[in-house]
Amino acid sequence: MMYNREYESISREDLQQLQMERLQFTLNRVYRNVAFYKNMFDTAGVNIENIKSTDDLKKLPFTTKEDLRNSYPYDMFAVPLRDIVRIHSTSGTTGKPIVVGYTQTDIGIWTSLMARVLTAAGITKDDFLQIAFNYNLFTGGFGFHYGAEKIGASVIPASNSDVHRQILIMKDFKTSVLVSTPGFALHIGTFLQEMDLHPDSLNLKTGIFGSEPWSQNLRTEIEKALHVDAYDNYGITEVIGPGVAFECSERKGLHVNEDHFIVEVIDPESGEPAAPGEQGELVFTTITKQGFPLIRYRTGDISSLFPESCSCGRTLVRMDRVSGRTDDMLIIEGTNLFPSQIEEVLLEVEGIEPHYELILDREAGVETLEIRVEVSEQLPAMMDEIKNLQKFKNTIKTHLKSALEIEPIVTLVEPKMLSRSGGGKMKRVVDKRDLS
Ligand SMILES: [Zn+2]
Repeated sequence: MMYNREYESISREDLQQLQMERLQFTLNRVYRNVAFYKNMFDTAGVNIENIKSTDDLKKLPFTTKEDLRNSYPYDMFAVPLRDIVRIHSTSGTTGKPIVVGYTQTDIGIWTSLMARVLTAAGITKDDFLQIAFNYNLFTGGFGFHYGAEKIGASVIPASNSDVHRQILIMKDFKTSVLVSTPGFALHIGTFLQEMDLHPDSLNLKTGIFGSEPWSQNLRTEIEKALHVDAYDNYGITEVIGPGVAFECSERKGLHVNEDHFIVEVIDPESGEPAAPGEQGELVFTTITKQGFPLIRYRTGDISSLFPESCSCGRTLVRMDRVSGRTDDMLIIEGTNLFPSQIEEVLLEVEGIEPHYELILDREAGVETLEIRVEVSEQLPAMMDEIKNLQKFKNTIKTHLKSALEIEPIVTLVEPKMLSRSGGGKMKRVVDKRDLS
């Protein structure tokens, strides 16, 4: 099933033509309306009139996450603020988050792209969709919500409240589709077992999961625990939110909505294009967005493109599931976090050394973060009482909570206990989640 057959199965030739027209329109728009892009093109000596094919796109410089942070909050918007009808932002926890704006037209496009995502997973107006994503500045909840209403499904905006309540809703409201992070889905599955509820006593048939990296193994686990067909989808706030790429019934790679986004895969070191099928960094150029257009945006996500056609009939290129990051950004339960941000907070706490280790794991389906920190030589003397030790741990927790909105497990380690390899820099992140 396709929501928009005309575009989803457009011939590659027509698609290129369409992309070119839309790209030229977008380049003109950003050159006129966004000082950053005018400056960037002028500095690089690029005349946008000379960008005559999608190949020419390579003449343009990249836009980076740093560029977007520096434009906080509204400097990258390409329309007057009165034309913006919605604001979302990344979970940028310290420093500056990335703020994105949508015009009425942008929301309409986003909605229809989400309708594609859902239709490709076999969702129809007969379905009851339980959306267990946060409804806030995060794009996940609202993106799916609008798309599901568009195809006429019954939307249950459950948000990510506690798991018992989710299960109660699921049972009583006869939910047929669960939308959440894969971690939360597995969490629900674990609780079903504990509550002695057989998944077949529910009406669930499909799960649509995303917003954090997950593996084929995790897909199998979730399908077993919930008795659903699990579908992957891809999107990031900066590009539009969910709705950038989606799985069809084949579930072998994610179709990129190329009539709205030009996708490239580059070698993250050289910036040169990767060969078809070769892994590299995903780069997107938006070609229909009005409020927050992006030119050659480096996502930091590692994937590859499958040039072969798909038996579902869609001509849109497929990307592989995201297998990692080019930087050390961690994605925990949908929240983006850099180790350096944690380090910054730890350094504010007196009595600990700048040596730490982050351990990511999964417990009963929920992703956990443990921070092991070394206390300074002077501290043990002060900490002879367990009570004081607990207090000290809580101080660290409070700092992390208020600065980063994370609540990790904090473990104190004696001085010089954490390994120091190569020039005093230790391996700071241990990821025990299975992402392969
Ligand atoms: Zn397909």
